[in-house]
Amino acid sequence: MDQFNEEGLKMYFYENRLKTYEGWPFNEDCTCTPENMAKAGFIHTPSENSPDVAMCFFCLKELEGWEPEDDPEKEHKSHSPSCNFITLKKKVEELTVEEFLKLQKERQKFMINKHCKEALDKFEEAAKQKRADIKSAMGEE
Ligand SMILES: [Zn+2]
Repeated sequence: MDQFNEEGLKMYFYENRLKTYEGWPFNEDCTCTPENMAKAGFIHTPSENSPDVAMCFFCLKELEGWEPEDDPEKEHKSHSPSCNFITLKKKVEELTVEEFLKLQKERQKFMINKHCKEALDKFEEAAKQKRADIKSAMGEE
């Protein structure tokens, strides 16, 4: 959990987001270039099987399966309309401290929601496993 310290604030800045796009498959003759992706708030979060996963640093929405003609900003708005970053009217650098703190509070809500969801999914997965164990144990008797 690095989102509450400086490391977590780093991604508010375009240059830092842009730096994550090493190995990004779309660079030329397309709309979803690293520059446009970073501008739209996305950071590149590839995994072994999915080289084109990108996640909004703010609302944590993950999108993959990008097509060259996809517009990152439009995709972001349509998949995560409640994201405060993509609907921000000002540049982060132009926000007042108060505006920034408000924004950061909204971001933390997204983070907490995601953590809760992950914990719930884990719990449900464990419960499912347990039920399967019990069923098979009963079946053996
Ligand atoms: Zn977002």
